[in-house]
Amino acid sequence: MIQDIFPSRMDISFKNKIPTDDSVVLSFTGDGLLARYEEDDMSFPTFKDVGGENVIYIFSVDGKDFFLRFGECSCDGCTRKDMKEVRRLKTKINRELFEVFTAYHLYTWYEDNRFCGKCGKKTTYDTVERALNCECGNKIYPRINPAVIIGIRNGDRLLITKYRTGYGHSALVAGFTEIGETLEDTVRREVMEEVGLKVKNITYYKSQPWGVVADLLAGFYCDVDGDDEIHMDQGELKYAEWVKREDIELQPNDISLTNEMMKVFKNSK
Ligand SMILES: [Zn+2]
Repeated sequence: MIQDIFPSRMDISFKNKIPTDDSVVLSFTGDGLLARYEEDDMSFPTFKDVGGENVIYIFSVDGKDFFLRFGECSCDGCTRKDMKEVRRLKTKINRELFEVFTAYHLYTWYEDNRFCGKCGKKTTYDTVERALNCECGNKIYPRINPAVIIGIRNGDRLLITKYRTGYGHSALVAGFTEIGETLEDTVRREVMEEVGLKVKNITYYKSQPWGVVADLLAGFYCDVDGDDEIHMDQGELKYAEWVKREDIELQPNDISLTNEMMKVFKNSK
C-alpha cells in the first residue's frame, strides 16, 4: 500500500524548522505539483532550486526534511502535473507518491485555513504544534476525514463495485463517516445505501492515510446477512456484483487499501 515505504521511514512529528539548501520543497498550485518528471518517475526540487519566504516544514523521510512552499515558483527542468496525473505515474516505489499524498493533505489544510472561520482574520503558524492561530483565540488543528472501505463477503464471492464517475477500476463499497456514527455504523449505513444489503460479522482489517482527499480510510470485512439480492444506488455506482474469488480483477497498482483487501480475499481459501 502507499504508506508501506519500509525500509524508508516518514517522521511526521511537528518541528519548527527552517529549510537548508538541500531540503526538499514541494510546491502545489491549481496546476498541480512542481517536480522534475521523467517518464514514470519524478524527483523534487530543493530549497536551493526554488527559494522563497513562505515555506513551512512538514515531515522528514530518512532524515531528509520536506517543506511546503506556498505561492507561484519555478525551477530549472521542473514542470507541473495535476494530482490525477501524478497518481497515475508508475513510480518504481511508493515512497514518492506517499510523500506527495501526505504533503498535499497538509497543503490543502493550510490553504483552506489561511483565514479564520470565526472572525475572518488571517491565521498564523503555530510554532509548537501543527496548528494555525488567530488573534481572536481560535486555534485550528489539521482536519482528517474518516471513511470506511468495506469488503462484503458472500461465501466465495466478494461484492465488487465500479463508480459512476472518476476512478474506473474495480472497487469496494466505501463512504465517509457521518457525525454521530461509529465506524461500524458507517459500514452498515453505507452498505444499505449503496447496495441495499444487511451485513454481519463486521471486523476491522487495516487503515490507510489517503491524503489526496484528506481521508483516513478504515477497512472492514463483513458477511452479507440474509437476502443477497443487490439493489444498487444508480446515482453513485455503475456496477455492483458478487464476483467469485478467481474472477476478481485487481487495480493496476498496489497503492490502495481497497486493492489489498480485494487481493487478500482473492488469495484466501
Ligand atoms: Zn479569528
